[in-house]
Amino acid sequence: MPSDARDIPLPQFDPTPVRPAHAVGPRSLDAVRMLRISVTDRCHLRCRYCMPAEGVSFLPASALLGAAEIERVAEVAAGLGVTHIKITGGEPTIRRDLLDLVSRLRGIEGIELSMTTNGLRLESIAGALREAGLDRLTVSIDSLRSDRYAEITGGGRLDRLHRGLDAAHEVFGGLKLNVVVMRHINDDEIGDFARLAVERDWTVRFIEFMPLGRSVIADREPKEALVEADEIERAVVAAIGPLRPLLRAEPGIGPARVNGTAAGRGRIGFIHAMSRPFCESCNRLRLDAVGVLRSCLFDGGEIDLRPLLRSGVDRRDERWRDAFAGCTALKPEVHGPRGDRAMSSIGG
Ligand code: SAM
Ligand code: SF4
Repeated sequence: MPSDARDIPLPQFDPTPVRPAHAVGPRSLDAVRMLRISVTDRCHLRCRYCMPAEGVSFLPASALLGAAEIERVAEVAAGLGVTHIKITGGEPTIRRDLLDLVSRLRGIEGIELSMTTNGLRLESIAGALREAGLDRLTVSIDSLRSDRYAEITGGGRLDRLHRGLDAAHEVFGGLKLNVVVMRHINDDEIGDFARLAVERDWTVRFIEFMPLGRSVIADREPKEALVEADEIERAVVAAIGPLRPLLRAEPGIGPARVNGTAAGRGRIGFIHAMSRPFCESCNRLRLDAVGVLRSCLFDGGEIDLRPLLRSGVDRRDERWRDAFAGCTALKPEVHGPRGDRAMSSIGG
């Protein structure tokens, strides 16, 4: 380690604002409340909207940040105003030290801790995750039909996922489900998912397909696959009746427009990143699995935190703030039509 931490150069990024950097609002660090941490880029599934059919290459395991390094970045983020950390990937449950990581992050004061998973390992680890301190879970499920689920995910077993959901419901109570709606693939199941939300008193969030990086759908038919949120909402209302928008008060409310149902049970969210980008209320940054901080799912803007992370610079050092603020300033006014990196590599 260098004798004087001040000699360590700032992480490299282009300081020329691509678009105006605002003093307050989404391009100001003051607006950032959430850090999504990709703990691995690997996954045992091959969802067609997320990964290409073949030629998937993953980072060497030795390149991934260790649990203590992730904890360190999370502590810095918490000191800079982040109040919610989401563990994601890739598939976070394939990381062997996941429980250790959850307990470490749990130890950070004032942090709400959640995780997004494909749910296939939840049957065995839901209880341990809760005990380690995870507050909430989001589970991805894109079909309620076994054969279709297997086809979309590249071999996932729906019976196993259902057992995982039941186990998670036991220990976490209200679950959030993520459903990526795709034309001619699962758009005929919108009503079934809406009814499931009411039946189980869960939150179902319908996500518009986003062409990010290489995936079977992004490579072949990105425009045809998109089902816009307004159309999804009409199908939901046809199935379960009118929705009641729920107001959420926190600044920079993030992406989902959430609604209550006429039945008074379950909630329905819409993530309309394509038809109505919500960049002006974006309150998040992403940390990839090797330590690169990313400003936006779609548009460029990254800062490599490894030089700071591995230099031993104190977490209150101004250079951390500069790195986080510099990355936030790179957020686009409105994101472009296509992203250069897959969600699985930058923390979906
Ligand atoms: N493996 C975990 C899972 O599937 O929940 C966490 C990582 S995954 C990248 C996070 C979320 O991103 C999932 O809900 C997934 O459905 C969503 N996702 C991935 N690629 C997407 C795309 N191209 N468009 C929309 N949502 C996508
Ligand atoms: Fe894996 Fe999640 Fe991507 Fe599906 S969406 S391939 S489960 S990382």
